[in-house]
Amino acid sequence: MPVLHRDLLPQIDAARCTGCGWCVAACPFHLLSLETKGWKKSSVLGDAAACTGCRKCAVRCPFNVITMVKKKPPTDAGGS
Ligand code: SF4
Ligand code: SF4
Repeated sequence: MPVLHRDLLPQIDAARCTGCGWCVAACPFHLLSLETKGWKKSSVLGDAAACTGCRKCAVRCPFNVITMVKKKPPTDAGGS
């Protein structure tokens, strides 16, 4: 059975992200954006539910900062 890409989400290593914006431009659905935290810019996935797991962002990142990870089932009922 083929792996459904929809099961994958990009995980961005904010510490290593240079904020270059390549992945932002690569996403066909404009789900990524650059966020500034203090002095540092990094890429953030805005709408995880809309992500198709197409990997275009991960492939485009020149620094290998994006890893495709399996979506976690929504069992996390905690939080505030
Ligand atoms: S995997 Fe595809 S749809 Fe999801 S954020 Fe990356 S480029 Fe966009
Ligand atoms: S392409 Fe890579 S280094 Fe550039 S903003 Fe996206 S995650 Fe960060």
